[in-house]
Amino acid sequence: MKSLAIFCGSSSGTNGAYNESAVVIGKMLAERNIAVVYGGGSFGLMGVVASSAMDNGGKVIGVIPTILVKKEAAKKDITELIVVDSMQERKAKIMEISDGFLTLPGGLGTMDELFEMMAFVNLGVHNKPCGVLNTNGFYDHLIRFVDHATESGFIRHQTRKYMVHDEDPVQLLKKMMTI
Ligand code: AMP
Repeated sequence: MKSLAIFCGSSSGTNGAYNESAVVIGKMLAERNIAVVYGGGSFGLMGVVASSAMDNGGKVIGVIPTILVKKEAAKKDITELIVVDSMQERKAKIMEISDGFLTLPGGLGTMDELFEMMAFVNLGVHNKPCGVLNTNGFYDHLIRFVDHATESGFIRHQTRKYMVHDEDPVQLLKKMMTI
């Protein structure tokens, strides 16, 4: 695995544990020479992951649409910043250059990104792993819902296998590498 997309909040959330896990993820990927691909902003957990990876000698590629360069304060002190024309182009580019997708706590944008990548697994567009970092049980309900949708016949078991989760970053990475 050479690069991993990180989907996470453009906010930091109300619990310091989310911030801490973003620092750990950035460091872990830098130490393993896995490039961080992300939305290119400075705010929230997004900025924390990028700074942590850079501080630990890693490679960080940001992909940001023109309309968000100011709004999300495009991060300049990263390895490469790719400016694209639209949100859809951003997701397509991130999908193209990443070997997997790791979701940290986040809001609507983060959910959109995770579910689009899972929907594309379902359609056979890619077969890359989607990891969910369940810091402090943040995603317990979402994981339960996805299991419910699978048991109810709306998500194929074969697709469900591509979404792995763990509270521990190292264990999660291992699961993502062995799908
Ligand atoms: P959030 O989880 O809402 O804080 O958003 C995290 C990231 O997702 C931010 O970089 C947003 O620009 C991005 N985002 C927000 N809405 C969307 C969307 N509809 N599609 C793709 N990305 C989005």
